[in-house]
Order: sequence, then structure tokens, then C-alpha cells
Amino acid sequence: MAFTLASRHVVLEASSTPSVEEGWVIVEGSRIASVGRGAPPDDAPNPIDVGDRLIAPALVNAHTHCVLSMLRGGLGRAAAGNVVEDLFYRIERVLLPEDVRALARMGAYESLLAGVGLVWDHYFFGEALAAGLADTGIAAVVAPTIQDVGGPSVDTAGRHRSDRELAATETLALAGMPRIFAAVGPHATDTVSPALWKQASELAERLGLPLHAHLAQSPEEVHRARDVHGTTPFGLLEREGVLDRVRGVFAHALFVDDAELARLGPAHALVACPYSQLVFGFPARVDRWESAGARWVVATDCAASNDSMQLRKELRFLAGLRTVGASFAGAYEAFLRGEGDVDDVARTRREGYEAFEATATPAELYTRITSVPGALHPHVRAGVLAPGALASIVVYDLEHPSFWPATDPIAALVMADVDAAIHAMWVAGQPIGERGDFHRSVVRSHAYREHRAEAVARLADLKKRAGF
Ligand SMILES: [Zn+2]
Repeated sequence: MAFTLASRHVVLEASSTPSVEEGWVIVEGSRIASVGRGAPPDDAPNPIDVGDRLIAPALVNAHTHCVLSMLRGGLGRAAAGNVVEDLFYRIERVLLPEDVRALARMGAYESLLAGVGLVWDHYFFGEALAAGLADTGIAAVVAPTIQDVGGPSVDTAGRHRSDRELAATETLALAGMPRIFAAVGPHATDTVSPALWKQASELAERLGLPLHAHLAQSPEEVHRARDVHGTTPFGLLEREGVLDRVRGVFAHALFVDDAELARLGPAHALVACPYSQLVFGFPARVDRWESAGARWVVATDCAASNDSMQLRKELRFLAGLRTVGASFAGAYEAFLRGEGDVDDVARTRREGYEAFEATATPAELYTRITSVPGALHPHVRAGVLAPGALASIVVYDLEHPSFWPATDPIAALVMADVDAAIHAMWVAGQPIGERGDFHRSVVRSHAYREHRAEAVARLADLKKRAGF
């Protein structure tokens, strides 16, 4: 069914800079049919009254593992070592597809309630994952995780499910579901052989899909690339022709150096997940990504390493990178010892501020969770109110105190906690919850309560099987 939203406050984008203007959006089916400035046309279909509220695109989270919300807060001392291998793998070795379907929903619900309409999710049992995400109404780019030389989906005899996951990728790509899209999901350079990287990129090329992978995320991965392949993780992808053949979305890239960044090329994007990286590594140097001309976006990764699926707080953290370096710089260390000069401290602070300035304005940051990640998949556009894009739209109540004094809504969408101000949401043209009672209507719905009960039961059983 077609409908029209109109307001004096609509987030429109002109040459990639967002602004708030009077405007309207007409939705037909799962996509946006047309958008305009000023008052809506007289024949606009089924106008929905949202009053004087802010109409904005739903957010795009370019790297998630919704299933792993099940391990939120459970890291404890594991954070000092290699979290992925010490904790995640142990529980992932005994996962069933039914678990994936049930557990993925919880991360998806949390994302929806934080204004996210599209997640790029990477996980095992791709078809079950897609089904679980679709159950909640969220849209997703699903990358079934493939591994053949390491990781939890490779058993002690070396058997693995990569052929089945690649087949699932193709099934999802060809299914034509209105909210589910596919990406090819090699896990990382130390869990996927060169032969499987090649097979994955050939599939991506044949189906016109992007690759979604982790890249150079740990010192262990760097050691393995050197010991096994005589190169770096990035060097391995170059050598195998992966970077020439397909578009890649690469999470973390902590151990990709400046020279490699300069060779990355415009077909690929890097994903910074600041809070997650605080736990398993350290925050990426997005200033270096920016000066190398790399395309980059911001995502949460999973709640197990992040504690939430809230994208806005990631942007606030990135904005803080301008100054946080000064706390740990030599100039301030010297000052604390009573030996330094306060002007040296101020200079260090100013240098950091300037280095990160280009990455830290609200309008710039806003595009990292909307239009930039929304343009990464060739089959679907999202994160923007534009004809042909997914009709994933959030209406915010500007009278909510989190927007006060509402003089710069874009800055509030980036820096403030405005999730509580969500009045209504549509994902791919379908309403999520009830207008005016958004959060409560979702968590009180019959579907949510059933889904949560199933997730509780499956998690308890899964922990038992994993020996926790
Ligand atoms: Zn990840």
C-alpha cells in the first residue's frame, strides 16, 4: 500500500550533506517512490499525520552479529586475552540452526528500538539467521559465515560447513525477499584458506554481491598471515586477487598500515566499531583512513563485545578521539610527574583536534551510519530518503527533552540519546510497533514475548551443551 509522510522537518540529503527542511516522502511497497521539498502534491496517497515531528531515514549498522547479544556482559576476564577465540568459539561450536534463528531476533529487536532499519549481519547458518532477522521486521544484508582452516565451524577432523554456507548465500541472493539481501561472508584471513577466499570472491562476482569480512583484527591474525602465507592479512587479499575482483566491506582493519590503506581503492569500505574495539583491541585510527581517502563507516559489531546495538554512542566516541590522545601523550605524562609544561599539553591536544577534525563534525559523522553504509550493497540503497531507497523511516518527536532545544536536529541525531524520542518507524514500508507508542508496543507485542521466551530457553540449553 502506498502512503505519504510530510513535515516541516525532513532530513534530506543534497550532495551527501544532510539538512532538515520542509518536505514529504511517498512510499510504495518496500521502497520510497518519491521525495520532495515543500508541501506534498495534492494527489499524494494516504497521508499519515505525523504533526511537526522529524522524519529521518532509519540507521544502517554495517557490521553486526545479532546472535551474540546472548553473550552480553559475559566477557569478564576473557577481555584481557583473545575474546573471540577464548569465549565465542566455545559456545559457537555447539550452536544449532534453530538457536541462530531464535537468538538473532533479540539483537534485531534491540537494533529496531534504537532506530536501526538495516543491519549487515555476519553469522553461521545463514538461512536460519535470515529467517530470525526477518521474523522481527528488520531488514538485513546477511553474510553466512564461512571458515575452513580455523574457527568454531571447523571440527577437530577439519570438516567444515563452508559449501553449505556458500549455497545458503546463493539461495538468499536469489530468493528476492523484500527485506533480506545477501553478502558473501569469509570470516577472516586466518580462518579462511586462499582457495576458499578465491571461491568466495568468484561467487560474489558471479552474483554481483559484496564481500563482508573481518580483516586484520588481531596480532594473532598478523602472525598467522606471516607464518603461513609470508605476507600481511591485507597482502594476502591483494595477492589472491580478492580486492580486484569484488567490492569488500571489511570490519576493523586495525593492522592495515598506511601504505596498504593507500592501495585499498574506492570499491571497498572499512568499518570502525569503536566500543567493540575497546574490548578486543583498541579503537581504529579513522583519521588515517580518512587521509588515505578510504571509504569508511561506523558500526557496533556485537553486543557481546560492545554491550549495545546503539549506533549514536559510537559517533560520540569517534568525536572524542579528537582529544582523548592528549590524556596519554608524553606531554601530559610529564605534566603529571611535575616536569612538564602546560603549553606542551595544550599543543598536543590541539594537534589531535586538528588531525581528527575532518572526521568529527556532526553532519559528517551522521553519514557514517546512514547514507554511506546505505550505499554499500549494489542491490539495495538505504539510509537516505531518496526515490528507490528502502522505505525505512523513523519519525522522532522533536518535543522530547533529548532534542531540546531542537535548534540543530542533525547534531542531536548524532550526539544525543534520542532513541526515546522515536514516535514511529517503518522498515521496508512495513510499520514497526504502533505510532505514538513505539517502544512499549514492540516489547509488549505477542510476537516479541514469544520470541524472547524461545531465546531464553535456547540460551539455557546452549550454555548447558557448551559446559558453562
Ligand atoms: Zn565482527
